[in-house]
Amino acid sequence: MNWITNYVRPRINSIFSRREIPENLWVKCDDCGTMLFHREMSDNLNVCSNCGHHMNITPRERFEGLFDGGIFTEVEVPEPLNDPLHFRDQKKYPDRMRAAQKSTGEKEAMLVATGEIGRTPIVAAAQDFSFMAGSMGMYVGNAIIAAAEKAVELRRPLVLFSAAGGARMQEGILSLMQMPRTTVAVQMLKEANLPYIVILTHPTTGGVTASYAMLGDVQIAEPGALICFAGPRVIEQTIREKLPEGFQRAEYLLEHGMLDRVTDRRKMPKELVQIIRMLMHMPPPVSGDLPAPGPADITPVPPAPSEQK
Ligand SMILES: [Zn+2]
Repeated sequence: MNWITNYVRPRINSIFSRREIPENLWVKCDDCGTMLFHREMSDNLNVCSNCGHHMNITPRERFEGLFDGGIFTEVEVPEPLNDPLHFRDQKKYPDRMRAAQKSTGEKEAMLVATGEIGRTPIVAAAQDFSFMAGSMGMYVGNAIIAAAEKAVELRRPLVLFSAAGGARMQEGILSLMQMPRTTVAVQMLKEANLPYIVILTHPTTGGVTASYAMLGDVQIAEPGALICFAGPRVIEQTIREKLPEGFQRAEYLLEHGMLDRVTDRRKMPKELVQIIRMLMHMPPPVSGDLPAPGPADITPVPPAPSEQK
């Protein structure tokens, strides 16, 4: 080691990584390859305006699009033990965590918030696939428990958006323990007679699919989402057979009775409002509960009979 590797190189790297890359302004659709302007993309909730392909969206962006006026209050999540196993693969676990925190700007892989959609109060939790593949560790377990407790306290439904590569291997068995913990949290909601709605987003896999992501009263998925316990490649290698087209995708699972609905992200808030109001025995949404209608939606009021003379 010398001063070039220890001092000069990190300086050079930090100067270059700080620079805005103009390519960031354009995003290529993973499915159809259309180049999309990033502003247009975020206005469209990261759905391709050409083919309707649903790309990843961070919990914060999702909540901004979901809640009325983009306003929500974050729910505090208790901090778990830091690196209890002193785990190390190619990198130390705390180093991986710091890198993920730096690249996403978030503390961990789940965001919990309270707010209103269509003037319907809810508690929402969303998993962040860009944070260490949304993996379920102790923090995610704590977040789901905090969300369920908040929902019971405020007597609101819990809406959960799942996205995960499974359990967080750096926390070993402690991450697997989150499966029963979160199952108990869901049970708390059921005992309090509160709806628990799961929206499965691409991809939801592994231990997450084997626990809280499959326990919803209503199971909704985003179009094209991969939802499975073991992935298609593992299954193909094990059974040595070609799997059917669209296997483990949202539409396939809807056809085979694993899901209740597949809903476009852009139509999700409206649909959630209807479902929640029905389950919470609230009056159906009236026009005052929803954003103001456009001029084309307003039908002129017929004149009163006395005026017709
Ligand atoms: Zn596309």
